[in-house]
Amino acid sequence: MRKKFDQIVALCKRRGFIFQSSEIYGGLGATYDYGPMGAELKRNVRDAWWRHMVYGHDNIEGLDSAILMHPAVWKASGHVDAFHDPLIDDKVSKRRYRADLLIEGHIERLKAKGKDDQANQVHASYVAALNSDDLCKALHAVIMENEIRGPDSGAFDWTKVRQFNMMFETSLGAVASEDSSIYLRPETAQGIFVNFQNVLNTSRVKIPFGIAQVGKAFRNEIVARQFIFRMREFEQMEMQYFVRPGTQMEAYEHWRERRWNWHMANGINESHLRWHVHEKPAHYADAAVDIQYKFPIGWQEVEGIHSRTDYDLSRHQAYSSRKLQVFDTQRRERYVPFVVETSAGLDRTVLMLICEAYDQDHRGGASRTVLRFAPVLAPIRAAVFPLVRRDGMPERARAMYETLRARWRVAYDERGSIGKRYRRMDEVGTPLCITIDSETMDGHGATVRNRDTLEQVRVDDSQMEAYIVAVSGS
Ligand code: ATP
Repeated sequence: MRKKFDQIVALCKRRGFIFQSSEIYGGLGATYDYGPMGAELKRNVRDAWWRHMVYGHDNIEGLDSAILMHPAVWKASGHVDAFHDPLIDDKVSKRRYRADLLIEGHIERLKAKGKDDQANQVHASYVAALNSDDLCKALHAVIMENEIRGPDSGAFDWTKVRQFNMMFETSLGAVASEDSSIYLRPETAQGIFVNFQNVLNTSRVKIPFGIAQVGKAFRNEIVARQFIFRMREFEQMEMQYFVRPGTQMEAYEHWRERRWNWHMANGINESHLRWHVHEKPAHYADAAVDIQYKFPIGWQEVEGIHSRTDYDLSRHQAYSSRKLQVFDTQRRERYVPFVVETSAGLDRTVLMLICEAYDQDHRGGASRTVLRFAPVLAPIRAAVFPLVRRDGMPERARAMYETLRARWRVAYDERGSIGKRYRRMDEVGTPLCITIDSETMDGHGATVRNRDTLEQVRVDDSQMEAYIVAVSGS
């Protein structure tokens, strides 16, 4: 499985999906850049989410709040005091790990070996550690008692567990002092909470309603060796849904189902998704679950659905001394709403879609690598090729390309054999390749080849747009 992951990482670089950030200077840990294909794919995923969440619901509004926020926001939200990861160092390999993930990995390995009883025992002491007053000491004890070894060195020579705040700090303006300290936001949600009253006052929404936003978030992650799965700068797609206290479980169930179905609608096979209930939900949450995907590196979280009670709004109300409440006209009462949030990583969703789409097949004696993206998400919707670079074919192909590109991202390619051009498009997941050949020139339409079925049909120029819509969506 790790081999498959390495092949995917190599393909992402080779075909211009994802590059390491500042690569010419040796790269910067856990930060990545999206190349031409990756930028298109990411935009399509972001747009699909926005269309589904904002345009698809008459009670959800969009927002685009600033990355930099007043430092009091992070006091109120609890991030200054409690946005920590428990860390431990392997003295032999000098590598640093998250203690909780180390134990979870150990439990998964025991399960994979069929040692369920032992896995359950470790799990029980892990949950007890998460709930103990001294988290660091308790996690350390679990690692020691179970002789959990360093994943890279195989050694059993650990430091103590320490807490580490993951927010990036910087300072505002010219003079750095304690008062000018600000943070890069570690999540987009707080921008939504602090704008709750603004959106309520300026739009026609009534409770229950949601606010959605997509944007960058920054976390000084320690375990950062999993490509774009865990980055220090990443994008989130979050929606906070405000409801009357007491109705949150209904909303929670509703959003669980909607979000699960959205991933399936993007072409994710249901057997590759599973629910993961939080071992220890945040103290304010009354329910929390993750959607996990079966990545080649194991089952990992892609999205969380959390019922956060009135914690965030009440805290901001207390810290800002501003009322953050609704007047429920139906019930004639005023209250601080409860919140159910859906919080997905855009980059993780992109990685999941690439892993799901990745395939190698052997048809007609030839092998190929193909990305079977849902056509509406594919970076390039269609490619247009002249079969040869003469007899008016390039001109005709370019004319078709010009027409189609007004509507979609379309590629034009006249270099190399037709087989090579098909391979290039398969590797970036282009659903349709259109070839202008001599029969086209004789008035019999262009050849359209389907990425998945490899079927070829003839389509008249005048019908091409309608054909693309029919087989790949609008
Ligand atoms: P993890 O346990 O993997 O660190 P989390 O539970 O801290 O994730 P949340 O705070 O719930 O994550 O964030 C919501 C979503 O944001 C996650 O489901 C994930 O898709 C995405 N996300 C969080 N941290 C990162 C990161 N470092 N890199 C990429 N995506 C991330």
